[in-house]
Amino acid sequence: MKLTKTRREILKLYDKIDYPLNAEEIYNLLNGEYDLSTIYRNLNFFEKEHILKSIVFSDKITYYYKPKGHAHFIYCIKCKKFESLNLCFEKQYKAYIENNMNFKITDHILYFEGICSDCQKKEGGKNA
Ligand SMILES: [Zn+2]
Ligand SMILES: [Zn+2]
Repeated sequence: MKLTKTRREILKLYDKIDYPLNAEEIYNLLNGEYDLSTIYRNLNFFEKEHILKSIVFSDKITYYYKPKGHAHFIYCIKCKKFESLNLCFEKQYKAYIENNMNFKITDHILYFEGICSDCQKKEGGKNA
């Protein structure tokens, strides 16, 4: 795999960040050094190479994350940010799904939508 400077910079971000990012967030994290179309192109490349996975939830924005066999996130519908969640329910689901549905699990994604603590504070501030 050819690693251009842009690709190296994007991958470096994912060494530190374990939750999904969209192209605009990556653009900002790289201080606008690369244009958005370059970032989109490289994200597509990483997806084709199975280095990153993409997910699209209710807001229709595509987010990319580094797959680790399973992924759990909480997502704030106000500031549209993900955080990773270190809690796994796989054992409970796995037994049920494999025994009752004859389905072999290879990966899972679990996410909760809501309002993060920062956004809750902001909302509270408005009312006070
Ligand atoms: Zn928020
Ligand atoms: Zn899990």
